[in-house]
Amino acid sequence: MRGGRRVDLVHAKWTQLKSKHHSHIPVAPVGYAGAFTEDVLVVAIQQNERQMPLEQQPAILVRGLVKRYDTVEAVKGIDLTVRSGEIFGFLGPNGAGKSTTISVLCTLLRPTEGSAEVAGYDVDRHPALVRQRIGLIFQDPSLDDQLTARENLWFHAMAYGVPHEERGPRINAALKMVDLDDRAGSPVKTFSGGMKRRLEIARGILHSPEVLFLDEPTIGLDPQTRARVWDHLRGIHARSPITIFMTTHYMEEAEWCDRIAIIDHGRIVAEGTPADLKSQVGGDVVVVSTDDDDRAIAEVWESFQIEAAKGTGEIRIEVPDGAEFVPRLLREMTVPVRTVTVRRPSLDDVFLKLTGRAIRDEEADPKAMMRRFARTWRGGR
Ligand code: ADP
Ligand code: MG
Repeated sequence: MRGGRRVDLVHAKWTQLKSKHHSHIPVAPVGYAGAFTEDVLVVAIQQNERQMPLEQQPAILVRGLVKRYDTVEAVKGIDLTVRSGEIFGFLGPNGAGKSTTISVLCTLLRPTEGSAEVAGYDVDRHPALVRQRIGLIFQDPSLDDQLTARENLWFHAMAYGVPHEERGPRINAALKMVDLDDRAGSPVKTFSGGMKRRLEIARGILHSPEVLFLDEPTIGLDPQTRARVWDHLRGIHARSPITIFMTTHYMEEAEWCDRIAIIDHGRIVAEGTPADLKSQVGGDVVVVSTDDDDRAIAEVWESFQIEAAKGTGEIRIEVPDGAEFVPRLLREMTVPVRTVTVRRPSLDDVFLKLTGRAIRDEEADPKAMMRRFARTWRGGR
C-alpha cells in the first residue's frame, strides 16, 4: 500500500477533512509514524486547533469522568489535567476509585460518562492509538514465571511491534536501567518480589511509551525495596521525556511526585504539589497520645477553641507554633498525657483534614491487615 496510491488517498482524505473541520496547516499527531487513517487525521487537526506546541499539551486530560459498575458508582465525576513530563501521584485509600480510573485511562474499561484523553487521543474513540503510546504496570504481577527476564521482555517487544533489529538493544538498555542485566537469563520464578516489580517496569518502558501508568507499584514491598523501585522510576523519568501517572495509598510516596490528586469515595478532594497541599494544614502538627482521646479532644476545644482530629490511638492538633503550644497544652489538660510530638504537616494530615479520617496501612494493605490479625490471634495486641 506504499507509494503513489497511498499518497493520493491521504491527500484526498486530507482535503476532505480539512474542509470538514475548517482547519489550517496540519501537523502529524504526537509520536505518529504509521499509516494515515481518518482517525489519525481528525486527531491531528484537533491537536493543531488547540494551537499549543505539542510538548505543552497535557499528557492526560479528564473531564467529568464517571464510572459505574451496575449499582456501584466507583468514580463520580472527576476532572484531571496531567502535564507532559510530570510525575503525577493519584492518592487515596482502598476502594477510593484509583484502579477504576487508571483502567479507564488505559482503555481497559469504558467510561460511563465524561471523557478522557491520553497522549492526545480520546480513550473511548481511539483506544488502539492510546494503547500504542502507554506503558502499564498493574497491581497484580503479570510476568511469565517460567520464562527468563530477557524472554519476558522479548515477548512484550514482539507484542508491541518493536522492530526486530531494535529488540535486542532496547531490551539490554531496559534491563540495565532497572539493574537486572546480570540476571537477564534467570527464570522469573527465581526472582524476589522487588526484582519482579523492576522487571515489570523494564517491560513497561520497552516500547518507549509517552505515558507510563503504574497502579500501586510498590504495594506489599518492604520500605527498602520500595525506595529502590522509586530510584529506578526517577532515573527513567530523568532520562526520557516520559509522563508517569501512578496510584498509591502510601502517603510518603506521594511526596516524591511533582503533583498529586487525592481521591476519596470516587471524588477528587484536593490537587496540587505536595508542598501546596501541606501548606493547607497551617504551621505545626502536635500529636498527643492520652488515656482518653475523646475527653482530650473536648478539653482542647474548651481551653483553646481548636478542633483536634482523632487519629489512630492519638489526637492531632494543628497550631501555628508547636513549641509554644505544648507547655500551654500540658498545663491545661487534666487527661493523663502519655506522649507529645511536634512535627511539620505530612500528606497524612492533609487527608485527615479533608476527610476527617486517617489513611491507615491496615485499611489498604492486605498484608498489614493479615499481620495485625495474626498478632491478635496469637493473643498479642
Ligand atoms: P481503589 O483502586 O482505589 O482501591 P477501585 O477502583 O478498585 O478502588 O474500586 C472503587 C470501588 O468500585 C469500590 O467500591 C469497589 O468495590 C468497586 N469496584 C471495583 N471493581 C468493581 C467491579 N468489577 N464490579 C463492581 N464493583 C467494583
Ligand atoms: Mg486499586
